[in-house]
Amino acid sequence: MITAVTSRARRTRNISSTLARLEDIIYERERERLAVDHHAIISVADRNGDIIYVNNKFCELSGFNREELLGRNHRIVKSDAHPEGFYQALWRTISSGAIWQGEICNRAKDGSLYWVESTITPFMDMEGKPYQYVSIRTDITHVKNAEIALSEQKERLRRGQSYANIGTWEWNVKSDELFWSERIPVLFGYAEGQLETNYTNFLNAVHPDDRQSVEAAIQRSLLHRWPYEVEHRVIWPDGTVRWLLEKGAVVTDRNGQAELMVGVVQDIHERKMAEDPLIVARGEAEAANHAKTEFLSNMSHELRTPMNAILGFGQLMALDEQLGDMHKEHIGEIMKAGNHLLTLINQVLDLSRVESGHLHLDTEAVSIPDLVRECVALMYSLAREKNVRINSEELGTQWVQADRTRLKQAILNLLSNAIKYNQPGGSITLYSKEHGRDRIQLFVDDTGIGISPEQRHELFKPFSRIHNQTHQVEGTGIGLSITRTIMQAMDGKIGMQSTPGKGSSFWLELPAHQSSSVVENRSS
Ligand code: ADP
Repeated sequence: MITAVTSRARRTRNISSTLARLEDIIYERERERLAVDHHAIISVADRNGDIIYVNNKFCELSGFNREELLGRNHRIVKSDAHPEGFYQALWRTISSGAIWQGEICNRAKDGSLYWVESTITPFMDMEGKPYQYVSIRTDITHVKNAEIALSEQKERLRRGQSYANIGTWEWNVKSDELFWSERIPVLFGYAEGQLETNYTNFLNAVHPDDRQSVEAAIQRSLLHRWPYEVEHRVIWPDGTVRWLLEKGAVVTDRNGQAELMVGVVQDIHERKMAEDPLIVARGEAEAANHAKTEFLSNMSHELRTPMNAILGFGQLMALDEQLGDMHKEHIGEIMKAGNHLLTLINQVLDLSRVESGHLHLDTEAVSIPDLVRECVALMYSLAREKNVRINSEELGTQWVQADRTRLKQAILNLLSNAIKYNQPGGSITLYSKEHGRDRIQLFVDDTGIGISPEQRHELFKPFSRIHNQTHQVEGTGIGLSITRTIMQAMDGKIGMQSTPGKGSSFWLELPAHQSSSVVENRSS
């Protein structure tokens, strides 16, 4: 009896503690449901899709009251924003027992559309078939509307840029990241999106003659925070040249450091053409000049090979001891004319190379006295032959910034002219001096026939030979024009002064090289 009572009492205690636990669980589930109910839009449908439960939020959002919804098929809120295949795929997923998640656009009672992010969970019976579907959703209409507004805004901007032929860009100075709008590649002659966004591609598209000014404008703007504004040409992949206008500004960070550069690019080609018909003429002249240079360069190459053959065989024939005097004299003439022609061909080739911008320069610190000594040694026999004395003792110790080989070519040309157009028994004096704070001038003075002021403007033109008629001096008339182009390419200058009958003074001017860096260069 006691045992029976004790065990009953224990059972009763167990039952009441189980009940208490169950109450707790029910309480907690109830609170969870309440929380979800307050946050989400919930509906439950039976296996046919007919609504059997909706919460208040569902009613609020759809605009239907509960009575209008219960028992009706879920299609009541279906919109025509999605294709039929979308709903078929959804049903296939949930009727097979899988959970479906995605964004759906529904229609409210008043016809307005709303977007929900939805999770539909099927509940399965003992046979593994769904008997009801619970849908939990969040209203994302505001996000969708913002997305739509943004893409409309983007499209509007794109259309605007396209009509105005304007592109925009943004360059992060610190990370070097570059963004540009779809219109930029089009302005550079590519299809939209075809040109990869990077600074090198931008600079490569800029006309070679304008690259320096574009880069300088960017640097100026970064350095002084000035507005960035530059007009420049671009060369399209098909060779078309177009004018663009760039405008931009530097954006600084909290510490005043340059952080971004932002800007617009606009096609101003038509305006530029209308403004200045000279530009058209210049473009055409440049193209014609380019074609001429190309032609000369090709021709010179073609002529050089047969010319070398003529000279080679001429030299062989001259060695033939059985030749009579007259024939020897004829061969001598052939060799003389041939050598002259070869010099001419080589100079034309050099001129065309220099003029077409194919001049490759390796600038370095060059010692003026060392280089002049080398040149004088090379010209020594010609000077002796013409009985001209070369005096180079007055040279300073200056260093210049130049391409050694090309500077040597320029000095040799001045020196050979000073010898060729000198008087027998005349002299040449070479000396150098500082010009301003950072330039050096090298003078080649002669005591020769001189050049009159009227002849001076002809001097640097290709093929112009001033003393051709009066003096039998060999030459081609190309040397000085090459020398001038070389000097300009090295940021240098050439000039002269002369007194006819007394002599001429030709000078070359170049940037000085600081001696400290010369020491560094030599030790490295
Ligand atoms: P080249 O000497 O082969 O004819 P250049 O271009 O070097 O060609 O010189 C062009 C012309 O300038 C020469 O033909 C000559 O008439 C004149 N000239 C050049 N240097 C001197 C000089 N030092 N004195 C007088 N005339 C000169």
